[in-house]
Amino acid sequence: MIFLLAVRTPFEAVWKGLFFFMQINGVALLVEITLHGPFYMPIWKRSLLTLTASLPFIILAFYVITYLDKLQREMKVIAATDMLTELPNRRSFFKKVEKAFEANRSGVLFIIDADHFKAINDTHGHQIGDDALVAIADRLRSVLRKTDVVGRIGGEEFALFLPGLSAIEASGIGERLTDPIYVTHGDEAHPIQVTLSIGGVQKTPDVSFTDVMHRADLALYRAKEEGRAQLAMWDAGLLRAANQDEFAPAAMERIA
Ligand code: GH3
Ligand code: MG
Ligand code: MG
Repeated sequence: MIFLLAVRTPFEAVWKGLFFFMQINGVALLVEITLHGPFYMPIWKRSLLTLTASLPFIILAFYVITYLDKLQREMKVIAATDMLTELPNRRSFFKKVEKAFEANRSGVLFIIDADHFKAINDTHGHQIGDDALVAIADRLRSVLRKTDVVGRIGGEEFALFLPGLSAIEASGIGERLTDPIYVTHGDEAHPIQVTLSIGGVQKTPDVSFTDVMHRADLALYRAKEEGRAQLAMWDAGLLRAANQDEFAPAAMERIA
């Protein structure tokens, strides 16, 4: 609601200012007619009088409202953004993807997890770990199309929804993401190498959002099991095996 009175462009300053002034002038005219009858004062005189009296208040009101509007927009961005990587955060990612799912958009969902990240922190320190997370975010941004939805959904875990793509088309993108990422830490000659494991699943209309996440998680677990730094796509066999507890009980724990 506040944005109706906020001034975001010079053009808005002109038309909203005029509109506000006309409202005040209208009220002044009503009071004048009530007290003195019609045509007591020429229009230009009353306009000049109300403009002089109300201008400081109009300016103050616009200033305060515009400031609050700017603050509100900044808070919205902060609430939806992961401050380290500047990617959308978990809440924002889930909201956007759920919306895409409700609109029945097809596509492929990736859950992406940095490999052996604890070891990177333990060996090189938390700051380098943070730099690595930023480098991972940059890698994700490098493959993004305008319509894709990306987010940091956990500590060293990210997710990507690629609307409209088939599993084969998305696989090409997934393979690019699994190429090693190099993070320099003062020593340009010996950068740290970070890799990503990715679990992917093709979204079909009959599968709920929760199930799609579940399947991507199972596929991610397989990518880890099979050596990391790779993409694994979900298939029905994975779910059967997990349900029969033959495959990856730990994957079920991760999901629970
Ligand atoms: P795996 O290949 O199986 O995924 O092993 P992993 O070491 O990546 O997984 P694990 O879950 O054992 O460790 C995740 C680590 O990520 C532990 C945690 O300290 C680190 N981490 C999570 N969030 C951040 C962060 O914001 N900054 C830094 N530097 N490290 C983080
Ligand atoms: Mg990890
Ligand atoms: Mg993890």
